[in-house]
Amino acid sequence: MKVQELETLLKKHGLRRTDIRLQVLGAFRHQDMAYSQQDLQQAVGEIDRVTLYRTLRSFEDKGLIHRAIDGTDQAKYALCQEACTTHEHKDDHAHFHCTNCGRTICIEDIQVPSLDLPSGFQAEEAQIVLRGLCDQCS
Ligand SMILES: [Zn+2]
Ligand SMILES: [Zn+2]
Ligand SMILES: [Zn+2]
Repeated sequence: MKVQELETLLKKHGLRRTDIRLQVLGAFRHQDMAYSQQDLQQAVGEIDRVTLYRTLRSFEDKGLIHRAIDGTDQAKYALCQEACTTHEHKDDHAHFHCTNCGRTICIEDIQVPSLDLPSGFQAEEAQIVLRGLCDQCS
């Protein structure tokens, strides 16, 4: 994404433009890819870990990025679609984890179906995690 696009995105989600935010947001190079904090740290270089963590938290709070649960013990984050706003994420899609290259990818085309729960149960979230070989490894 161009700097201008990144600035627009920050503004839309009510975040003041700072160099750090621009750098961190710019580290999400591909729309559908999920990145671990370690991946992002490598991309942003000199930003310290705590600042990076806080920046990610504020992005998550404001509906810019979401956690991609992929069955590994590493937290991963991916850019949200347009529909996500502050305090309301709509990332009800599957995440695919490639067991060969380790990439985690948002699969927007597969949505979490609404499930009939036994009475008395209320789900607040549901995840679909797929594991196997990605298009580059199969
Ligand atoms: Zn979202
Ligand atoms: Zn792969
Ligand atoms: Zn996702």
